[in-house]
Amino acid sequence: MLDRFGRRIHNLRISVTDRCNYRCLYCMPEKVRFRPSPENLTFDEMLRMVRLSLRLGFTDFRVTGGEPLLRPGVLGFLEDLVKLEGVRRVAITTNGHLLGRHLEDLGRIGVRSINLSVDSLRPDRFRELSRGGDPAVVWDAMERAAADPRFSLKVNAVVLGGMNDDEIEDLAALTLARDLDVRFIEYMPFGYWEEAAPRQLVPASEILRRLRARFDLEPGESGEMDTGPAEYVRIRGARGRIGLIQPVSDKFCRDCNRMRLTADGRLKACLLIEEYRDVKGLLRNGGSDEDLLSLFGAETFGKPEKHRNYRMFSMNETGG
Ligand code: SAM
Ligand code: SF4
Repeated sequence: MLDRFGRRIHNLRISVTDRCNYRCLYCMPEKVRFRPSPENLTFDEMLRMVRLSLRLGFTDFRVTGGEPLLRPGVLGFLEDLVKLEGVRRVAITTNGHLLGRHLEDLGRIGVRSINLSVDSLRPDRFRELSRGGDPAVVWDAMERAAADPRFSLKVNAVVLGGMNDDEIEDLAALTLARDLDVRFIEYMPFGYWEEAAPRQLVPASEILRRLRARFDLEPGESGEMDTGPAEYVRIRGARGRIGLIQPVSDKFCRDCNRMRLTADGRLKACLLIEEYRDVKGLLRNGGSDEDLLSLFGAETFGKPEKHRNYRMFSMNETGG
């Protein structure tokens, strides 16, 4: 459906859990309390929301978290999602820790698009950034997903000044011989924990400047699997593209086609606003499809033109 600014909203991001097995510096504090599971929507409740969204014209679905592959039963949920009539594309965003062991099932089920977070190619730094992540299993999963023609693979790297920005070129070089895109995401410098030292934001323009200094870049064409706000370039002759994502830019908002459903049943029209509509109450207290549909439709139509300002929020809850 179109929102009040004429944007076609067709992409629903579903966060299936706030839990994660990593503690990325930029995403969550080391000591974090997760919500008790019963507070999260069941998969049946999520599927009901998906069915309603199909009536509103949503076609593309991304399952995220926290770490989505941690939630028991998520593969069955993905399978149900893929089978629904009107669903065009089901994608998953993962830190890759459990990806290798589920890759075959994801392919069989019909998940065709994988976004994988890889912020560093240096083992020690990878562990430091993710606070305990396992680089070997993640890279192995990355190689296997890249080599599997069923998947469109996007490797996402959040660039933190003074932390991993000296790897921009190495990460970009992953696209030379592999069938994957690398996307650099500007760090969103907020969160409500205290221990994460403020890192420097490296603007997309600076990332591009550094890439141009090293590589011969050409414009990257748009692909069939692109539903997001990245701008693409390509190293001449490379197999994959390089994307740049500015999550707090006007362009990001102008091209926004998303709504978000959090694991605990909040419908959010924008990543960077606090306002939301609670759908769990309606789902659990006898709300009719018409009730839910009118709430969903109104919230989608009324999406804000852009985020108003940086708010304290946490990505693992909202679903990045
Ligand atoms: N756990 C999965 C993962 O890491 O891919 C999915 C959830 S994670 C919240 C989704 C995306 O949000 C990841 O690509 C992560 O890098 C990004 N993200 C989290 N915090 C961020 C921040 N402060 N700035 C920019 N991107 C962030
Ligand atoms: Fe977990 Fe993903 Fe957040 Fe890292 S970015 S802590 S992997 S949810």
